[in-house]
Amino acid sequence: MKKKTLYDAIIVGTGPGGATVARELARQNRNVLILEWGNRTPINGTMQQALQNTGIPFKNVLFTYNMLSMVRSTTTGGSSVYYYATAFDPPLDMLQSYGIDISQETEEARQELPIAPLRDDLIGPMAKRIMNSAQDLGLGWKKLNKFVYQERCRANCDLCNLGCPHDAKWTARNFIDDAEKHTASVITNARVKKVLFDGRTAIGVEYTKNMMPSKAYAKKIIIAAGGIGTPVILANSGFQTVGKEFFFDPLIVALGEVNDISGGREFPMATGFHFENDGYMMTDMTVPLPIYLGFAAEVFRWDRLTAHPRTLTIMIKEKDHLGGRLTSRGGVRKKLDPIDKKSLLHGYERAKIILKNAGARHIFKSWYTAAHPGGTAKINDVVDTDLKTEYDGLYVCDCSVIPESFGLPPTLTLIGLGKRLSKHLTSKI
Ligand SMILES: Cc1cc2nc3c(=O)[nH]c(=O)nc-3n(C[C@H](O)[C@H](O)[C@H](O)COP(=O)(O)OP(=O)(O)OC[C@H]3O[C@@H](n4cnc5c(N)ncnc54)[C@H](O)[C@@H]3O)c2cc1C
Repeated sequence: MKKKTLYDAIIVGTGPGGATVARELARQNRNVLILEWGNRTPINGTMQQALQNTGIPFKNVLFTYNMLSMVRSTTTGGSSVYYYATAFDPPLDMLQSYGIDISQETEEARQELPIAPLRDDLIGPMAKRIMNSAQDLGLGWKKLNKFVYQERCRANCDLCNLGCPHDAKWTARNFIDDAEKHTASVITNARVKKVLFDGRTAIGVEYTKNMMPSKAYAKKIIIAAGGIGTPVILANSGFQTVGKEFFFDPLIVALGEVNDISGGREFPMATGFHFENDGYMMTDMTVPLPIYLGFAAEVFRWDRLTAHPRTLTIMIKEKDHLGGRLTSRGGVRKKLDPIDKKSLLHGYERAKIILKNAGARHIFKSWYTAAHPGGTAKINDVVDTDLKTEYDGLYVCDCSVIPESFGLPPTLTLIGLGKRLSKHLTSKI
C-alpha cells in the first residue's frame, strides 16, 4: 500500500492570503502542499480565458436577489489575477484594536513588491482628465500605488484587465511560482470539500480532482479559499457560525462621454481619492469594450453602446454595513442596506460633477456590483488573533477573517496577514 505523505502544511487556495503563507513557509524549507480549485494555464490576455476563469455564472459571478453581481476568480492566483493591482494601505488601527499588528509585515511587503504610483506615461488620458478635473474642483485626488513592474508595463494597453500577459502586474501567482521553486508542491483543479479531524485536531483535507475523491494530510491546515470559498469548506467541516454578517464592498460606475479623447485602453484605478468621511472611495476605471458594453446594457442604455472610446468612467466603491448570509454552496444572500445605497448615490452625484467639469455629457450610472467579499470567518469569532480556529492545527488566512468592513481593496492587508501567520507557523512546524 502507498505510504501517505505527511506535509508540514496544506494550503487551500492561492489568492494573496494563501499564496503568501505558502511562499513564506516554502522559503523556510517547510514541506508544503498547495491545493487550488482552478487551473494554472499561462495567462494569455484573451477575453476567452478571462471568461473561463472569472466569468462563469454561479461559480465566478454570483448574484443576490436584487441582481447585484459579485465577481471572484477561480484560477491559480485567485482574484488577484484579474484585479486592478491598486495597493491600499491596510487598516492597521482597526486590526490593532483586535490585537493584530501587521505593520512590520506590511513594511516587508513594501520592500519586496513593486509598489508605487504608475509613471506618467503609463497613466491613460482618461484617468488624467478625471484627475485634473477633480483637482480643479479642489479634491485631493491623486495617483494611487500599484503592484506593477513598470519596466514591463505598456502605455495604451488594457490587458491588465485580462490578467496581463506581459507579467507587468504582480499577482499572487508570482508567490506560488516562488513557493514551488523552493519546497512547495502544487495540485491544481483540486477542489477541497472539507477538513478531516482526529478529535479536536485537524489532520488533513478531502478534495476532488478530475471527479476522483482524494485525501491529503499535514501537521497544519490553512484554509485560504477566499471570502466565499473558505466559509463553504468550513461549513462542510461542521462550523456553524461562518458565512454570516459579511461585507462585499458594493460599487457602481459613473460614465460620461467627451468629444476630444478617442481611447479606451488604459490601466484602470491609476488615480483616485478616498472620501473617508462619506464612506466611499472613487477612482478612474476605464475598462475594455466588453465590460463597458455590460455596464451600458445592464441599465438599458443602448444609445451609449458605441461611445466606449470616448467615455470617461469613475468607480464609486462603498464601505458597506455587515449583513446577509451565504448559502451552503456559497450563494450570496445580502440586500444592499438603504444607507449604503444612499452613500453610493451621494458618490454618484459627486462623480457627475467631476465628469461634467471634465467636459463629459450623457452621464449615466451602472447597476450595482461587488468585488471584495470578506468577513465570513471573522477574527474574534471563527478564528483567534493567530488566525487559528477552535481546532488545533486549523487556520484561516484570506479576506474572510477581516473582522470589519473597511471599504478599500484588501490585497496588501492579506499579504501582511499571510506573512504574520507564516511567522507564527514556522515557530510550530
Ligand atoms: C475585478 C477586480 C478588481 C480588483 N482590484 C483590486 C485592486 O486593485 N486592489 C486590491 O487590493 N484588490 C483588488 N481586488 C480584490 C482582490 O483581488 C481580492 O480581495 C483578493 O484576491 C482576495 O484574496 P483572497 O486570498 O481572500 O482570496 P481569492 O483571491 O478569492 O483566492 C481564493 C482562491 O481559492 C480557490 N478556492 C476557492 N474554493 C476552493 C476550494 N474549495 N478548494 C480549493 N481552492 C479553492 C479559488 O479558486 C481562488 O484561487 C479586485 C477584485 C476584482 C474581482
